[in-house]
Amino acid sequence: MSHIQEEIKSIQERLPEHVRLVAVSKFHPIEALEEAYAAGQRVFGESKVQEMTTKYEALPKDIEWHFIGHLQTNKIKYMAPYVALIHGVDSFKLLKEINKQAIKAERTIPCLLQIHIAQEESKFGFSFDECRQMLEEGCWKELTHISIAGLMGMATNTDDENIIQQEFHSLGAFFQEIKDSYFSNQPAFKEISMGMSDDYPIAIAEGSTLVRIGSKIFGQRNY
Ligand SMILES: *Cc1c(COP(=O)(O)O)cnc(C)c1O
Repeated sequence: MSHIQEEIKSIQERLPEHVRLVAVSKFHPIEALEEAYAAGQRVFGESKVQEMTTKYEALPKDIEWHFIGHLQTNKIKYMAPYVALIHGVDSFKLLKEINKQAIKAERTIPCLLQIHIAQEESKFGFSFDECRQMLEEGCWKELTHISIAGLMGMATNTDDENIIQQEFHSLGAFFQEIKDSYFSNQPAFKEISMGMSDDYPIAIAEGSTLVRIGSKIFGQRNY
């Protein structure tokens, strides 16, 4: 077995039943994804729309493609026909644009709201308050072709496991708050996307349902 296949198998074996592995294959060639596919992997995460679309076209159609990168409104149309889940939605404007492209593609696109939980400065992600405000306003309920499937977050890049654990904990608690307030009768709101190669065991302990693991499976990326 190749390194890729061994890693996939060993991660899959240790995941609790309610947690799914998103194999983050960004910047890796088609052959690497084929190896993962041969090991049974069917969910892949990519961060560039064009790269994801090229891979989608080249690979078997039973793969679920998750977009985990930062979204540009003008690129959404290219993935709207096939993307299975968009992880990083951080504005109402993006939700609206995804909805528009989903209507054209005649499907409903599941989305996760990205929440900024790390201490690090970042332009990306709603603050807790911004997210509450957007949901409270209610206009998202009129978007007929998106489905808000949960939340996504990234912890601070640090060796301090206490900080990571607190940040994941805060996302888990916020998920529960939002579920109770806005989605209590909607079983589709169920995902907490958190945890990467270096911190996914902590994320699972804090309630993650989707771990996004790249370098541990595919090795270092050449950006
Ligand atoms: C690249 C990336 C990952 C995977 O990170 P690794 O440390 O390689 O596991 C996960 N989530 C997001 C949003 C990413 O951009």
